[in-house]
Amino acid sequence: MRCASLGSGSRGNATVVEQGDTRLLVDCGFSAREARKRLARIEVEPDSLTALLVTHEHADHIAGVRVLARGLGLPVYLTSGTARAAEKLLRDVDGIREFNAHEPFEVGAIEVRPFPVPHDARDPAQFVFSNGDTSVGILTDAGHVTRVMVDALAAVDYLMLEFNHDRDMLWQGNYPQGLIDRVDSDYGHLNNQQSVALLNQLDLSRLSGIAALHLSHQNNSPDRVSECLADTLGDSGVEQIIACQEFGFSWFGEQ
Ligand SMILES: [Zn+2]
Ligand SMILES: [Zn+2]
Repeated sequence: MRCASLGSGSRGNATVVEQGDTRLLVDCGFSAREARKRLARIEVEPDSLTALLVTHEHADHIAGVRVLARGLGLPVYLTSGTARAAEKLLRDVDGIREFNAHEPFEVGAIEVRPFPVPHDARDPAQFVFSNGDTSVGILTDAGHVTRVMVDALAAVDYLMLEFNHDRDMLWQGNYPQGLIDRVDSDYGHLNNQQSVALLNQLDLSRLSGIAALHLSHQNNSPDRVSECLADTLGDSGVEQIIACQEFGFSWFGEQ
């Protein structure tokens, strides 16, 4: 199983998870046209996608879902709350499939294990994907670390984890106060220290690779995140990647 990011940050997120012929697109915060362009960069034919999974209704995760799902005839998996929140946007999409965020389900060759997260959306969920052998976790858009998140991700082989902001940069930067409060709240985004704290609660002996996602352009820097990862993982040999808004990252995992 392997995965790639088409781009990650507040201006759009989309991630491909692949196992054999099963290819899931997790979120599509880019226009459908832009998503097709970015899929070409990692040599994925849009027609070869199996399904779309949506984590929550914020535009940077859902903006392109309607047009892409309709154009490709893809089923769209989301929670009931996300479906309600995005009802207008997705009104003419066939194949809406609501899942229970506490129950695993299968899409093709991939077992999807969703888990709920605290974020200022109606019913947000993130995922662990498994082929029975290897597992890949994704977690972005969470305001604080919960027991549920730690348990879900405890033994993953590969992890895509939000490193949204450096708290000092956020508070010293020029975001309006309302936005600072939102990002910093228990239902906002994980800061570097929170993500490190989460990592330290996982079974790192099992971890083969980590990709940092959803970095704030203004309130974080790849260098700061690299330092956090190096401090936490030392010379353990864990592959470390930092996703950017424009290019995400190319394939990582095992084929
Ligand atoms: Zn987001
Ligand atoms: Zn969000």
